[in-house]
Amino acid sequence: MTAVAYEHVSFSYGKGEDGKPRTALQDISLLVRDGERLGILGPNGGGKSTLLKLTLGLLDGYEGSIRVFDMPLAEARKKRLIGYVAQRVEAELAFPLSARQVVELGAAFSISPFRGLSASERSAVDDALAVVGATSYADKHIGSLSGGMLQRVLIARALAAKPRLLMLDEPTVGIDPAGQQQFAELIVKLSRDMGLTIIVVSHDLRTIAAGCDRVACLSRTLHSHVAPEGLSPSVLAEVFKHDVAAIFGDLHVDAHSAANCKDPSHVHGTTSLTVKGQTVPTQTGKGQAGDGITFEGKKP
Ligand code: ADP
Ligand code: MG
Repeated sequence: MTAVAYEHVSFSYGKGEDGKPRTALQDISLLVRDGERLGILGPNGGGKSTLLKLTLGLLDGYEGSIRVFDMPLAEARKKRLIGYVAQRVEAELAFPLSARQVVELGAAFSISPFRGLSASERSAVDDALAVVGATSYADKHIGSLSGGMLQRVLIARALAAKPRLLMLDEPTVGIDPAGQQQFAELIVKLSRDMGLTIIVVSHDLRTIAAGCDRVACLSRTLHSHVAPEGLSPSVLAEVFKHDVAAIFGDLHVDAHSAANCKDPSHVHGTTSLTVKGQTVPTQTGKGQAGDGITFEGKKP
């Protein structure tokens, strides 16, 4: 069964000052299979958050069709089939709530001071706290939690409504490397134990490579669908070429791994890459030294 079917989806945020439409997404067609963990990787401004908001039914006026578990969006939303963890908002920390109270907000259909949670809602809250590993700090104030702990609580809040699809927007921003690895392990566990379909969007390659079993690259249009191992330097260069252009000006990007380099003017190092006299810092991690682009974490 298909969890989400996007067919020829295009969306613009109105018209710009030049009268041209501000197109955020163009002709996106993508099938997300039930039970898979799909990573959507792309540069900032590539339309990732827009795609999630469209899927949640938060934006009107798109072209094409989006169906969730073969239902129109309004019906999927009414049945609470979609859980969503937005890009982290610091403001949430200011609320004087415990972790458990935050998760309770996700479980209840309506919040009323005159109505407590039903027994089944209470057990959904306990289950959600347990599955993300937050039971031990459930009664702590959310403002006292680390980034990784807070993220688990926000995931538990989304899970408390028992969705079948979980969508996470930039889940590892502000989370340390150990927390990122735990996040990858958590989403694997959620898909395996609960049968959830999971969509993770991020501009961070490591987040996507560690926890997902398929990757779509989005930069206004969809570029490729590959397993994380298929994210070759040339695929990444294509996806992030506008980011690179913003730093170095328009470039012809010829990305390759150190092992396959035939140009004697290139000096490949573990922390930087010299291309025609310009030093380009590269990410370091536990991947292959010298590749310029390395993966941290492993595919479980
Ligand atoms: P991403 O999440 O990949 O960084 P977004 O979906 O947030 O990208 O944005 C895609 C494009 O749409 C960007 O060019 C952004 O400036 C534009 N955009 C996003 N939100 C709005 C908005 N509310 N109004 C106008 N333009 C927007
Ligand atoms: Mg975004």
